[in-house]
Parts: sequence; structure tokens; C-alpha cells
Amino acid sequence: MLATSQSALIVVDVQNGFTPGGQLAVADADQIIPKINQIAAHFENIILTQDWHPENHISFAENHPGAQPFDCITLDYGPQVLWPAHCVQGTEDAAFHPALHLPTAQLIIRKGYHANIDSYSAFMEADQQTSTGLAGYLQAREIDTVFIVGIATDFCVAWTAIDACKQGFQCYVIEDATKAIDLNGSLQQAWQDMLAHGVKRISLKDITAQ
Ligand code: ZN
Repeated sequence: MLATSQSALIVVDVQNGFTPGGQLAVADADQIIPKINQIAAHFENIILTQDWHPENHISFAENHPGAQPFDCITLDYGPQVLWPAHCVQGTEDAAFHPALHLPTAQLIIRKGYHANIDSYSAFMEADQQTSTGLAGYLQAREIDTVFIVGIATDFCVAWTAIDACKQGFQCYVIEDATKAIDLNGSLQQAWQDMLAHGVKRISLKDITAQ
């Protein structure tokens, strides 16, 4: 599983909004950042994702009268968890966390910018039809293997990892460089789904021991 010129590190949503103090803070999520910086030193190719919503985004509870954050509703494309407003385009909440130090990163994929579609995955928006373009970018660069870290394990990391497998990439999730929301058992379910799709579950030492 050596990181080579044909592999890329995908750093998912390490933004102020998902770390302590943010609008959708994941407990202790800032603690994985030094690990991500350390892992990044082993990669030639690094891609970041950035959750990037308009104010009227469909995933915000405040845009659904009577709904509360963490309610689940059904949209045309399927179930959708409603979140507190977070990572609004151009705000400090949407900025990358200041401790993240990835000067050699090559691409930022912004996602969730269509008002009517959420996007947990870095590859496909939640309607499962709208591509972000990431698969094409990786293929054009002859990258066939991805390693995933970031926030949150059970949402954006898991969806990105499963889509990577579906698109034909070898996919590793570096578990101790992710942090979960764990809503009603969602973490255990996410691992079950990831492993069933062929995602490989590894840890920081598998990378740094190289
Ligand atoms: Zn979001």
C-alpha cells in the first residue's frame, strides 16, 4: 500500500465548520490535524475537499420550516439528514482549519454548492448522478489508488470512500486520521458499508512506518 505517484491522499472537509467552535463541530476533530499533516509528507499527490454551501442550501434545517437539526427528511433523491447551517460559501466557517498544513496539495474539490443537492462524497453529489469531476481528474493523471482522511468518518469520508470503490479506485481509509459524528449508530453502519464495498481499513502507522 505504498504511497506512489499513482496514489493520492484525499483530505476530506478539514474546515473550521466541522472542528470545535464551528457550526457543525465534530468533537475532538481538530486532534486529527497533526496526524494528517504527518501523513501528507508521505504523498506526492494531495487533494482537499471543501464543503461549500449557499445560504439557501437544502441540507440546512433552517430552510425547512418546523424542522430541527438532525431530523431526517425524504427528498427526490432519497433520505437527507438536516444539519445546522454550516460551511456557507466565503465565510470563516467554510475556511480550512488554520492548523492544516498542506503546502503541496494540488487540487481543492468544492462540494455541496448546488442549492438543491447535498454532497457528502467527493466524487458524486447525493443525487448519485451529478459528478464533481474528481474521478475524471484522477484518471487523467493516471492515479488508481486513494487514501482518505478527514471529517466525518461516517458521512463525507464514508461516502467518498464507497464512491472511490464504485469508480474503480483502490481505496484505503486511514481510520485514526478521521473523526466521526456517530448519529444513531451511523459510525458502525458506515464501516460495515465501506468494508462491504472493498474499502481497506488501515491506520496512521501503516503509512508512517514506510
Ligand atoms: Zn455540508
